Amino acid sequence: MNDREPDIKWPIVERLRAANHVVVLSGAGTSAESGIPTFRDAMTGLWAKFDPMQLATPEAFAADPELVTRWYDWRREKCWSCQPNAGHVALVEMEKHVLARGGKFTLVTQNVDRLHQRAGSQRVLELHGTLFEWRCVSCSKSQDVGGEPFASYPPLCDCGGARRPGVVWFGESLPMVQLSQGRNEAGSCDLFFTVGTSAVVYPAAGLIDAAIAGKPMTVEVNPDATPASSRVDHALRASASVLQRLVDAAFGEPSDA
Ligand code: NAD
Ligand code: ZN
Repeated sequence: MNDREPDIKWPIVERLRAANHVVVLSGAGTSAESGIPTFRDAMTGLWAKFDPMQLATPEAFAADPELVTRWYDWRREKCWSCQPNAGHVALVEMEKHVLARGGKFTLVTQNVDRLHQRAGSQRVLELHGTLFEWRCVSCSKSQDVGGEPFASYPPLCDCGGARRPGVVWFGESLPMVQLSQGRNEAGSCDLFFTVGTSAVVYPAAGLIDAAIAGKPMTVEVNPDATPASSRVDHALRASASVLQRLVDAAFGEPSDA
């Protein structure tokens, strides 16, 4: 392992060219260059007086559904107004290249912003749900939403029940299918990236443990050190957009010719 590798490394490029199965775990830092605040940064302005624990729980929603849905709606609108960045685009290109030569590509995200999908990623496992599906607490029917404002807070289902954001709150379980698929694939792939995640939020961070146990090549992309940095094969102290350089180096830069 290298503690600090600011530049791309050729062993990663070579593995990326040859890997049969690439798995990527992405976190909030992947969207930082799109201007989406991290959880703590989102508690600013009007929301500075709240603790996320006061808003991101089923109990908080039951106690004050208007307050909680207004906060999530503020985040939803913020995400909707942001655009995918070079890191998201690089992951789309990585997926295309790996699939084109018959390989498998799995993107597992903790992000709720849908920017991977908006960039064009085909197969995304969402571990923490999304701000763009709201579920009725009475009949469980989910509705896809875009950036349009709601008519009421909380928004209401056709059945009259209140809709809640389709995110996983503190104290709730992660979707089992996505979690176990993510863990299995992290443990059986031959190249694993962890990008823009603090590697401390479990059970998502367990994918990093599964990958290290499965012995693929492991790569972290993060400008800061995390508990995973000393355990991966390559710790790239860089922002997510460094992925574009890896993809260009592996598959050739787009040329004007
Ligand atoms: P985190 O906020 O705990 O950690 C973010 C990590 O990103 C940090 O380690 C930081 O050093 C790194 N980072 C900052 N800028 C970066 C950049 N430009 N490129 C690469 N890395 C960068 O995020 P987490 O590990 O995803 O866990 C936080 C929780 O909050 C998750 O549950 C997630 O669902 C939720 N969340 C999601 C979003 C989103 O959807 N965009 C935003 C905020 C929080
Ligand atoms: Zn309903």
